[in-house]
Amino acid sequence: MAQVSLQDIRKIYPNGHEAVIPTSFDISDGEFVVLVGPSGCGKSTLLRMIAGLEEITEGSLSIGARRVNDVDPADRDIAMVFQNYALYPHMTVRKNIGYGLKNRKTPPEEIDAKVREAAKMLNLTDYLDRKPSQLSGGQRQRVAMGRAVVRNPALFLFDEPLSNLDAKLRHQMRIEIKALQRRLGVTSIYVTHDQVEAMTMADRIIVLNEGRIEQIGTPAEIYHSPASTFVASFMGAPPMNLINARLEGGHVMINGSTALAPAEGTGTITIGIRPEDVELSPEGSLSFQVDIVEELGAHRLLHGRLADQSFTIHVGKDTPVAAGATHIKLNAEAMRLFDAQTGKAL
Ligand code: ADP
Repeated sequence: MAQVSLQDIRKIYPNGHEAVIPTSFDISDGEFVVLVGPSGCGKSTLLRMIAGLEEITEGSLSIGARRVNDVDPADRDIAMVFQNYALYPHMTVRKNIGYGLKNRKTPPEEIDAKVREAAKMLNLTDYLDRKPSQLSGGQRQRVAMGRAVVRNPALFLFDEPLSNLDAKLRHQMRIEIKALQRRLGVTSIYVTHDQVEAMTMADRIIVLNEGRIEQIGTPAEIYHSPASTFVASFMGAPPMNLINARLEGGHVMINGSTALAPAEGTGTITIGIRPEDVELSPEGSLSFQVDIVEELGAHRLLHGRLADQSFTIHVGKDTPVAAGATHIKLNAEAMRLFDAQTGKAL
């Protein structure tokens, strides 16, 4: 188990591309941290630098008390789980799980005991003599997890481990991985482009955008208090509504109607509000045009326009709704204000 510390870590690829702009953060012992962001934001590059698979251009990386910039991947006391599982097709599950230990010249009895223990934990006991081709996608992913677990590393690194699974299996494996991590207490860094994985698995989320950290926080902080419009629109499905508004005379105005008061300042701003923080109300000061009702069983989403900008509302399954004009109220406490130019939270 270990703490991980990145100080001003930077990555410039040989072609001159700066994939990671100097970045610092600390991860506590036992913490599960998810690096999330759109494709190309630099999350794999960061993870691969931590793993030692990619050279660190500048900055300092420590795992535990040790600076590991120049330490070989094999000597960093980490175990990595990849998207493509990286299993050996000609080896049985037993051999795949124990492979890393055999390489380290662990005595055979010890390998056997550790493999059995991991297999039990991962529900693979009945499959130990099968080859990977005779397993389902979820089982293969568990074998890859088993191989990481038997190493008893200081740090788990996950690189989009669930991307190849279908939606239902992804949901199940999310819970399994999280439960396993809790049980073992191993510090973990998990890379994904899927904001749902980030929200549901992380103790803390690091949102990356174009090689830069947009925000670090707990899932609740990231969801309710996004540091920027980028985070507001990347995290949450559907995303936070973002609407152009004006600050004037102590009010936030949308299209001439008061959306929030009192409010300080003047000029153009962007307001953010989650779909579930909006209420249909005949007394509401804002007009909302419902274009499409999306039926989701437990609730409904109303997609439409507020002041000619797209806007979505979340309503309960029993709320009577129909396409057309209506009125809404925004929950003032849940409203977030952003600088219209920089997109940063005010
Ligand atoms: P992510 O994992 O978030 O999708 P990556 O870390 O793989 O993003 O890549 C970050 C950026 O660095 C991207 O613009 C990508 O094209 C670029 N990149 C990745 N690997 C290399 C490389 N070996 N040489 C040059 N540029 C690279």
